[in-house]
Amino acid sequence: MRTRRSLIDLSDLAAGEIDEIFERTKYFESTRPSRSLEDVACVNMFFEHSTRTMTSFTLAEQRLGANVITIWPSQSSLAKGETIEDTAITLGAMGIQVLVIRHPEDGFPARVALAFDGHVVNAGDGTHAHPTQALLDLYTLREEFGELNGRTVAIVGDVEHSRVARSSVHGLQALGADVVLVGPAGFLASDFMPGKARIERDFDAVLRVADAVVVLRIQRERFATMPLSNDEYVARYQLNGKRLKTMRPHAIVMHPGPYNRGVEIDESVLEFAGWRYAKQVMHGVGIRMAVLDFLVNRDRAVAR
Ligand code: ASP
Repeated sequence: MRTRRSLIDLSDLAAGEIDEIFERTKYFESTRPSRSLEDVACVNMFFEHSTRTMTSFTLAEQRLGANVITIWPSQSSLAKGETIEDTAITLGAMGIQVLVIRHPEDGFPARVALAFDGHVVNAGDGTHAHPTQALLDLYTLREEFGELNGRTVAIVGDVEHSRVARSSVHGLQALGADVVLVGPAGFLASDFMPGKARIERDFDAVLRVADAVVVLRIQRERFATMPLSNDEYVARYQLNGKRLKTMRPHAIVMHPGPYNRGVEIDESVLEFAGWRYAKQVMHGVGIRMAVLDFLVNRDRAVAR
């Protein structure tokens, strides 16, 4: 019987469980090292490029004392025709307990979770979900503002192709924030997540009221042709020095990375006092330690 749990999207977590993960994150960020995954074998399989997520999952596993194995998909038996389900069965038979998976196809980690007798952690699937990125973004916002009730968080840019945006909308709503999605029609359909978030086209109007702005990269690997010219995009949606000056004095700017200078942000954003990118990256390790500990040791109240 399957008793273990996976994290495919934030909708897998109740609001109270998000808080529990944050409590564990705080613990791991202040108390190191920990051995709470000692003798637990974790496999990382990334079918898509990654710097931040891959490195921080690996660091998180190592800091928890796990046995860490990286499988490069192109060098695995998948290249010999083995299905991912059969790979998952094989890894389970070896006693692997955790599989961290990134894949360009929506739903791929959920499919693996059905075959694998262990915990699957979604490290990003297609345009569907990126739960650990959303958690680290929420954690950064909570650290900045405390409770998110009544706070306006704007997510700006290529929302349509963003798994970060989809997961974040779930999480922000669960924690009580007002979510505004901003972008041109080609990057944000008017029926995007209906009933969950307000849609705005005018970035300048939103900037004047937002407490936090999450800027997204144009995810060119996910579509064939730009729906508007680069110049038009930059003119309407780039966060630049001029626009930063119109923001509320306490407002912050976040980005899941990787960012493209000269496209969605200009250089002045990197010097802006409210730029929280480094904080997000830093919390990524603690959040991933907390998620792994939560899934593997969930019966223990808080990590020791
Ligand atoms: N790193 C994030 C992701 O994997 C955002 C991005 O690639 O633009 O979805």
